[in-house]
Amino acid sequence: MYDFRSDTVTRPSDAMRAAMVAAPVGDDVWGDDPTVQRLEAYCAELLGFEAGLFVPSGTQSNLIGLMVHCQRGDEYLVGQDAHTYKYEGGGAAVLGSIQPQPIENLADGSLPLEKLKRAVKPDDAHFARTRLLALENTIGGKVLPASYVRMVTDWAHGLGLATHLDGARLWNAAVASHVAPAEIASGFDSVSVCLSKGLGAPVGSVLLGKRDFIQAGRRWRKVLGGGMRQSGMLAAAGLYALEHNLARLADDHANAALLADGLRKLPGLTVEAQTNMVFVHLEPGMAQGFSTHLAEQGLLVSSVGTAQRWVTHLDVDAQAVAAALAIAARYFEGR
Ligand SMILES: *Cc1c(COP(=O)(O)O)cnc(C)c1O
Repeated sequence: MYDFRSDTVTRPSDAMRAAMVAAPVGDDVWGDDPTVQRLEAYCAELLGFEAGLFVPSGTQSNLIGLMVHCQRGDEYLVGQDAHTYKYEGGGAAVLGSIQPQPIENLADGSLPLEKLKRAVKPDDAHFARTRLLALENTIGGKVLPASYVRMVTDWAHGLGLATHLDGARLWNAAVASHVAPAEIASGFDSVSVCLSKGLGAPVGSVLLGKRDFIQAGRRWRKVLGGGMRQSGMLAAAGLYALEHNLARLADDHANAALLADGLRKLPGLTVEAQTNMVFVHLEPGMAQGFSTHLAEQGLLVSSVGTAQRWVTHLDVDAQAVAAALAIAARYFEGR
């Protein structure tokens, strides 16, 4: 079976499991877990922040970030396609009383400055208080242009807005751009990173920010049910992932390019590759048959109608890519 549905499907390796078993632990709600503290400090250092907060998921990490930046009746400017707006169950509004102000993303994932400017509300009782700009990098596998990020975060700060980055796949952006993770994070007051996507840890995200921001976040983490006890066992997996699986994301990007090259040779497929993601558009007449064929052959991809997303990760190597391409090609034999 070849699983290209997402970079979240990876299984912890034996070495990662050994690191989890060996981790010194304490009760993290009491602030006692040395491995959690080590992970938070490691991420803070790597991403250029004062402090970090280990949380169960990226969804909770983003929500805590939004809830510390924004109070009841505040709003955040966010992409129409952003995870923090579209794919987190409306958590900011549901649990934070924070109003999203979605802005249509351009094809490169950016939010046009002119639209952002028009969306900022004047100080008037009719309006929610515009408080925060939230971006995502990578978004849809795409790395946001560095010059754009600098320009738009400077603009936000100039207006007194805070900035948050959903960096679930910040690691992919850094590796693809050949820059340090801290460079992708610069310009933001807070950043959320995932350890359970391309890096291969079974669980966990880290929220980064200034010391007082993280202290306020610790409170919301408890309120949201994210306070964990001997979570050093989970943090150890994250540390192992950062120490061993970061640089190798370049392999995932190379494998995605390889996959895209192979798929492009097949009839009826329009293919686009971005970092570790391959987006395939199928001609309507073949979409159902092709997707069914892949599933029957044990090749899992994520498909919605005529659109497919194939994601490369730690548990699919170049050989798996070759095998997947052979399965895909077999659909067209004799047709
Ligand atoms: C997966 C993802 C998240 C949320 O992470 P979970 O750990 O699944 O809650 C947030 N943002 C982006 C861009 C993601 O891809």
